Amino acid sequence: MAHQQLTNEPHIAAFPAMLKGKCARCRKGNMFKPGSNKMYEKCAHCGLTFERQPGYFYTAMYVTYAFNVAEIITLGVATYVLSNGSENPWLYLGIILVGVLLLGPLNYRYSRIIQMYWLDPTLKYQPELSKDIEQEPL
Ligand SMILES: [Zn+2]
Repeated sequence: MAHQQLTNEPHIAAFPAMLKGKCARCRKGNMFKPGSNKMYEKCAHCGLTFERQPGYFYTAMYVTYAFNVAEIITLGVATYVLSNGSENPWLYLGIILVGVLLLGPLNYRYSRIIQMYWLDPTLKYQPELSKDIEQEPL
């Protein structure tokens, strides 16, 4: 407590910041425009350029792939269990296609967030950047 008061650095937990799509460096600024999956070019709070180099989010494609595999397996097993072991392939195909299409926007968003938070070793949380910009030092 005393240490926090001395440094005056708010620590923002990673998981809620990830859920809300906050910048990976300051955990304050938004990565995505409100109500959409369009990304801001830079963090409004700390100025981080989200697409750090051309093709930066290429890696997120692999995360999306992993999400899709997990979703297909989950939906397939759930369909099998809930339909008492149906052998109709169209049932599985329909449910999996609809499910994967509905989850697509979430996959897109969270694959990019996971890449920035976990898969980029050059990008770390910097609590000193979380401070409010307006805040004057005492
Ligand atoms: Zn930021």
